Amino acid sequence: MSTLRFHAIKESLAYKPVTVEEKERRSDLFGKHVFNENTMRQYLTKDAFTGVMNAVRYGKKIDRSIADQVASSMRDWALSKGVTHYTHWFQPLTGATAEKHDAFFETVGSGMAVEKFGGNQLVQQEPDASSFPSGGIRNTFEARGYTAWDPTSPAFIYGTTLCIPTIFVAYTGEALDYKTPLLRALHAVDDAATAVCKYFDKNVKKVSSSLGWEQEYFLIDKMLAASRPDISLTGRTLLGHSPAKGQQLDDHYFGAIPSRALNFMRELETECMLLGIPVKTRHNEVAPNQFELAPIYEEANLAVDHNSLLMDIMGRVAARHNFKVLLHEKPFKGINGSGKHNNWSLSTDTGVNLLGPGKTPMSNLQFLTFFINTIKAVHEHEALLRAAIASASNDHRLGANEAPPAIISVFIGEQLTKVLEELEGVTKGKLSPQEKTELKLNVVGKIPDVLLDNTDRNRTSPFAFTGNKFEFRAVGSTANCGNPMTILNTIVAKQLKDFKIEVDKLIDKKDLKKDEAIFNVLREYIKSTKSILFEGNGYGKAWEVEAKKRGLSNNKTTPEALKAKISKQTISLFEEMNVMSSVETEARYEIEVEAYIMHIQIESRVLVDIARNHIVPTAVKYQNILIENVRGVKEIFDKKFNSISKEQIKLIEEISSHIEGINVNVTKMVNERKKANALEDIEKKAMAYCNHVKPIFDDIRYHCDTLELLVDDEIWPLTKYRELLFTR
Ligand code: ADP
Ligand code: MG
Repeated sequence: MSTLRFHAIKESLAYKPVTVEEKERRSDLFGKHVFNENTMRQYLTKDAFTGVMNAVRYGKKIDRSIADQVASSMRDWALSKGVTHYTHWFQPLTGATAEKHDAFFETVGSGMAVEKFGGNQLVQQEPDASSFPSGGIRNTFEARGYTAWDPTSPAFIYGTTLCIPTIFVAYTGEALDYKTPLLRALHAVDDAATAVCKYFDKNVKKVSSSLGWEQEYFLIDKMLAASRPDISLTGRTLLGHSPAKGQQLDDHYFGAIPSRALNFMRELETECMLLGIPVKTRHNEVAPNQFELAPIYEEANLAVDHNSLLMDIMGRVAARHNFKVLLHEKPFKGINGSGKHNNWSLSTDTGVNLLGPGKTPMSNLQFLTFFINTIKAVHEHEALLRAAIASASNDHRLGANEAPPAIISVFIGEQLTKVLEELEGVTKGKLSPQEKTELKLNVVGKIPDVLLDNTDRNRTSPFAFTGNKFEFRAVGSTANCGNPMTILNTIVAKQLKDFKIEVDKLIDKKDLKKDEAIFNVLREYIKSTKSILFEGNGYGKAWEVEAKKRGLSNNKTTPEALKAKISKQTISLFEEMNVMSSVETEARYEIEVEAYIMHIQIESRVLVDIARNHIVPTAVKYQNILIENVRGVKEIFDKKFNSISKEQIKLIEEISSHIEGINVNVTKMVNERKKANALEDIEKKAMAYCNHVKPIFDDIRYHCDTLELLVDDEIWPLTKYRELLFTR
């Protein structure tokens, strides 16, 4: 074992786990560091409280005097908890969260100072926008950007800083972050869904979108991770031979959580409790050292903020337990990757989950309306939904024979498939009284209020109905959920809007009763969306062939997939739903294409560095030892030499050919990179990286990984898979 590896492993084994004790009940800790409804009741005047709640519930504007009151109460609350600074906390398109801390402290002359925080500072700030991605918006407009308070996500304390969730927009109003379009999409789906709900219940005033994410991740010892340049710089291993034992025994999944990992989880969960992130579930995942964490679902905007915050604090808590968290979608070849299932639903302010079957035929018709409209939305925009989850790192899962495929389809289960079949047979136009009764009693009325699917098939589906919600499974573990949630809510909003227009038309023009009109429109939707429904094995080759016949897209790589983000259909969709202007849509596309290029470029550089500077010299060194040895053997045995050294010479030959293989491919990759970099057009550049640079990764890796099995373990420079994954 090389000295570097030896020391990394030694340190890792010597590490004494920090035992985390929990003295307080979690329910007592929950939300303690959040300026939530409960805290606001204590700290705000009645007017201020009502002002904020109206903003949260009904999107009403908060006037300036109220903002001043809220700010000074927030400050008092924060000071009482030892806070010294405040920051506008936002989610720029880098994928990370951003903050710039300012002290409350201010001088007021004559050597005096106070802690100050007013409405102005709460409502708006002007961080330097020039270093955040803007996709050309900065060039065409102004360089400056500002952050603005989002009262729908409560302020929280992290460390000694008061964090105020904000949107981040250009001076001319264009969104530069994930939150702004999400809020607009949530508004759009609220409007459209509330209008549809009124067919069933006039009392509904608001529909909210809910999100429950499930975060998968790997925990790797910090020293071991630091010994690998690829993990340090790219978050994944670019090289490494599979260990003799991987996940084939399935002995990790749902097994006892290793105590060191458990201690990390407990501390993380305590932090989450204080921050009001309602984490609930933890378990081992399929791969060794892979885990999952899931909260109770929340309103989508809050859930997105909470997931971003969580990803951030995971890293910090991990460091205290000598771990590095890998959120990457595919940190290890040959071992399961990580995703982030997004469980999604819509619910009314009257407390009804619109994707949960009800107890009466009417509430079931409402359920079917939302259920079928969601299917229709996915059917119309499958390529866009695929684009919503596209990233260089997620390409390792989608389209790489793992987890959900790159083809978007919807799984609904046996029971609902039957219901749709029956509804498809509904008479066109007016329904006879018998048919109505029949529908109410035997079709709509027969939907059980708990839908269970006893097959396991839905696990391979990227978008599955799971009883009372849809589960979007193709989202990557590193993703900001804001992106897929914006797109999903927008396409559903558009679909519900169109549905309402069609139903109203049938009521007005054809003189149909409300439920007749709904049945009529739903019937047509069922007929026209069959191609998106798939109950079979999503991982199989046969599905790829079948999906192609059905005309579904199968964009395996990010540059291909992203194109759907700027199709005519998408641009007008976002414009019509007031989610993004064409400038914003195009800017975002540009940012994502550029991020893809950067990503592959960085990985390629790191790979070349490791292959040339770590692997080749090591292989040469070992080869020289072998050559020296063969010379000696020859000297001693002379005539017998040929019969006893065949394998030895073959080994030298093999090593030579792999060294050559690395060198040839490294040169090839550097040349391809140069060619790609010379391209002006970013789409072409991304394609060049995807089709000409990226494939060489595998060639270089093949030679390096084979050498790992041939070269003396004593001098192998990279910490091996078995050491990364099984040192405990
Ligand atoms: P599983 O799918 O593993 O059987 P659950 O059905 O309880 O487990 O839910 C998985 C995730 O879905 C949880 O994070 C949960 O919070 C979330 N979830 C449950 N109901 C909803 C809903 N109506 N909207 C959004 N997410 C939900
Ligand atoms: Mg799940």
